[in-house]
Amino acid sequence: MNKEVLNTDILVVGAGIAGISTALEAAETGFNVILIEQSPFIGGRVTQLNQYFPKLCPPSCGLEINIKRLRENPLIKLYTLAEVKDITGQKGDFEVKIAIKPTYIKDNCQNIDEIIEKCPYERKNDFDFGLSNTKVIYKAHNNAYPDKYVLDRSSLTEEQLKFLSEAFPEAIDINQKEREIYVKAGSIIWASGWQPYDAKKLDNLGYGKFPNVLTNMELERLFASNGPYGGQPKFNGFNNGILKSVAFVQCAGSRDENHLEYCSSVCCLASIKQSQYIRQLYQDCEIHIYYIDIRTPGVFEEFYNTYTQDEKIYIHRGKVAKVIGNNNGLIVEAEDTLSGKLVQRAHDLVVLAVGMQPDTQKLKLLMPEVLDKNGFVRTDIDTGIIACGVCTRPKDVASTVQESTGAVMRAIHYIKGGN
Ligand SMILES: Cc1cc2nc3c(=O)[nH]c(=O)nc-3n(C[C@H](O)[C@H](O)[C@H](O)COP(=O)(O)OP(=O)(O)OC[C@H]3O[C@@H](n4cnc5c(N)ncnc54)[C@H](O)[C@@H]3O)c2cc1C
Repeated sequence: MNKEVLNTDILVVGAGIAGISTALEAAETGFNVILIEQSPFIGGRVTQLNQYFPKLCPPSCGLEINIKRLRENPLIKLYTLAEVKDITGQKGDFEVKIAIKPTYIKDNCQNIDEIIEKCPYERKNDFDFGLSNTKVIYKAHNNAYPDKYVLDRSSLTEEQLKFLSEAFPEAIDINQKEREIYVKAGSIIWASGWQPYDAKKLDNLGYGKFPNVLTNMELERLFASNGPYGGQPKFNGFNNGILKSVAFVQCAGSRDENHLEYCSSVCCLASIKQSQYIRQLYQDCEIHIYYIDIRTPGVFEEFYNTYTQDEKIYIHRGKVAKVIGNNNGLIVEAEDTLSGKLVQRAHDLVVLAVGMQPDTQKLKLLMPEVLDKNGFVRTDIDTGIIACGVCTRPKDVASTVQESTGAVMRAIHYIKGGN
């Protein structure tokens, strides 16, 4: 079979806010871009947020305009469900093998919504971190771009798959195959982003043991208007589900040599932002933020000052030792490092502010030498691979966009034969 080879100036891997910004900057400067994304939709983690700081607007306010620019730019070719399999060559002249997975859904199906309605099988919704289910034929979220439906074969037995393909032949094509393309590119920009740190590794903090211990990203989904409860979350148990006291545990697994050594730099801001989600819905609810150091650098000082004025927000300097449960709720035990006393407080909900871990497993397999000890892509030396966004170090959206512009400048430099 003939090799399908595509030529481009820049290959961008990962279509979160970093990859999208990079592709737009490069294409709007006149360069050809191939943008690949492993999931069926673009936008990355930002699409999972309810609102983003500092303006507290919904993610759609920034993403929609970027997606429109991307859709309308003929210099950008987007491939979703696409993964890098191999990289050869060097800067100025790379060849990259990419596998594109099938959706198993026919492009020309006219009645997909009706079929989804009738489909009897469900899967855990990974977009909501398993807090909801979707049918096995699904679109990641309402405004997902591309507007693509996928059949999750991994959630089905062979028998169920056979049943679906016979029941809905107008929609399902189980014979679709993975295909390979080869991209010849002058530069590669790696923008693979991050994963939330696995809270199950923090056994002292009750995650997985008590249903009202959640992570910060789960809280984003619970409050999101396109989340499991349409933005009106329901909580288990105490006070008939009305929250009266919520604890935020900062640095849950961060700045800790047994977990993540580094500070994820956005978690304090995220918790202050999320305290507003709760305060708006539950006006009598107290918020207790347990911290080691509050980090809201630069202009975010104003954000901190604005939102911590609230008389129901209490900020305690103390690392949380453990979260335990009893009939009245959850108990957070912490050492108050200002008074030196061990404190215990009861809360209805505990939110673990877990950090961001670079999503660079794929790159580790292909080019381990470009990663540092924490798995971030190195930017302190020239490895030939240009990277931007959280895969180089933790950062917020504004800093991600700035770094993406810088990455494009370097990519152009390499294409033009520079070092
Ligand atoms: C709880 C929390 C709340 C936050 N709230 C805010 C906020 O309010 N405001 C703010 O400014 N920042 C916030 N942030 C930070 C923000 O989420 C990041 O700055 C942003 O997601 C960085 O975008 P990115 O493109 O680098 O990564 P991502 O959003 O992770 O995107 C990376 C993309 O690459 C894809 N990908 C990964 N590997 C591959 C591969 N091998 N091949 C192809 N594709 C791949 C992924 O599927 C994904 O689509 C928050 C972070 C947390 C933890």
